[in-house]
Amino acid sequence: MIKSLLVGNIFLVLILYNGFSQENKLNVSGFESFKNGGEVYFRFKTNLQNLSKINAIISIDRVGTDEWVYAYANKNQFDTFNKLNIKKELLQHPGTLIDPVLKKSVNTKEMDDWDFYPTYDAYIDIMQQFEIEYPNLCTVFSIGQSEEGRELMVARISDNASWDAGEAQFLYTSSMHGDETAGFILYMHLIDYLLSNYNSDPFVKNLVDNLDIWINPLANPDGLYAGGNNTIYGATRFNANFVDLNRNFPDPENGPHPDGKAWQAETVAFMELAENNRFVMSSNCHSGAEVFNYPWDTWEQLHADNDWWYYLGRQWADTVHIYGPVGYFNDLDNGVTNGYQWYTTNGNRQDYMNYFHHCREFILEISNIKILPENMLPDYWEYNYRSFLNYMQQALYGIRGTVTDSVTGQVVSASILIEGHDLDNSWVGSNPVDGWYFRPILQGTYNLSLFAPGYTPKTINNVEISNQQAVIRNIQLVYSGVGIEENFVSENFSVGPNPVKDNIYVKFFGKEEVTCKIEVVNMKGNLLYENILIFNESNSTYTINKEAFKDKFIIIKLSTGDSDSYWKIILNK
Ligand SMILES: [Zn+2]
Repeated sequence: MIKSLLVGNIFLVLILYNGFSQENKLNVSGFESFKNGGEVYFRFKTNLQNLSKINAIISIDRVGTDEWVYAYANKNQFDTFNKLNIKKELLQHPGTLIDPVLKKSVNTKEMDDWDFYPTYDAYIDIMQQFEIEYPNLCTVFSIGQSEEGRELMVARISDNASWDAGEAQFLYTSSMHGDETAGFILYMHLIDYLLSNYNSDPFVKNLVDNLDIWINPLANPDGLYAGGNNTIYGATRFNANFVDLNRNFPDPENGPHPDGKAWQAETVAFMELAENNRFVMSSNCHSGAEVFNYPWDTWEQLHADNDWWYYLGRQWADTVHIYGPVGYFNDLDNGVTNGYQWYTTNGNRQDYMNYFHHCREFILEISNIKILPENMLPDYWEYNYRSFLNYMQQALYGIRGTVTDSVTGQVVSASILIEGHDLDNSWVGSNPVDGWYFRPILQGTYNLSLFAPGYTPKTINNVEISNQQAVIRNIQLVYSGVGIEENFVSENFSVGPNPVKDNIYVKFFGKEEVTCKIEVVNMKGNLLYENILIFNESNSTYTINKEAFKDKFIIIKLSTGDSDSYWKIILNK
């Protein structure tokens, strides 16, 4: 392990350029990256206040403990940043620090160490071998294609190779930044580990039998293989259009396009994946730091389940500390941080999954070294694999059960709210297919409120739960015959927060002025409030005080003539 760390330090040696004086020279000679890869890596110093402004211009990679801010930019972003006159140092791009020889063919049966990087074709072949070798446990498929047509591969692992009623869905994904590669191999190693130990390890069997596990080792194949399918030299953070995929998702605070760019093919594929499934927990793996980064990144307000997140973060980091070398995975609070407290970002997948899909996703920063030399990969597996498994196990815990119709027994798609606890969409829904809901939560005593369109709301009091435990509460709702069918949301508006604290904010993100009718109705469909407003770029937020309503749940309808959208809002009274 000590040897590995020393090797690591050699790779951390940076080639420094001195900001302005070198800039002209670089445009001539040292800046090929703009021609080839379209992105540069650099660092600068600034205060935190400036950082949130700069954050909208370039792609901040991390804020180091040395007070340097490390960042990437494409050509346009770099030009804009340069106008700020902040002194910077260009660094050698992490994608050009090493040039490993890639394996062209791999037999997964003979692979124990996972100490290599594959060519793109070999990667696809490895994934397919998992299904061929374990057809009863694993299906392998693509959830979509990248901008350049590479496959976004997933291995789906469960006891009958698909989903059964009552199984929580779980997702691991890695390397949406193409030059952060450790997770790419470690997650293939994890697939192999789950499949090959299923029959011999009860802990693994329990996970595979009771979860629906999705593992995507490579979320940005165009970035990793930017230099061609047979090399990872020249790997880029951005995708083929030089867009940072982890700033490209709808943001709870900053709207559907926080980076001002169209959703990329990769982003769309992951949004569709989230919409077509009900992931209870997930994580996306990065490199460049060593920390468990939990939501939120976009705003300062803590997650409703902040204490639960910290508990899981500590479990992850403390376990890693037992099996890893001294000094590994101890960034920030000894390996754990709230995202915003480290530095804020907008449009990342973590916040998207938590806010829009009621999932629990965190960002795993697994290694300071972005492209881990292949001989170090087995060490990082050894440090982390127990934490991979522990985190998956948490998706088996918490409050769970079915929601059904009290007469017909048919499943009901309901929202389940923890009273006085849930914030910012942390409530969960029951799955319309099997009626199951899953609410991971820290130990305590909770009151659950349920509501569903057409059903009388119901409260279940005093549900007690301990950590590392599952409590099952199957709940029947009484059909009232009145109510409103849910619809979905609009790209131009957001309504929140949800649940509401004091005010309901209707925010407009469109460019063209619209006239919008706002109607508020209760669950019985009675009209409580209406107003007609003009929204444009300078008049983009409308505030409604929640005291205007005595209901616990309301639906806000926005009609612009072109489209209607409905927003289910919890007033949490
Ligand atoms: Zn990253």
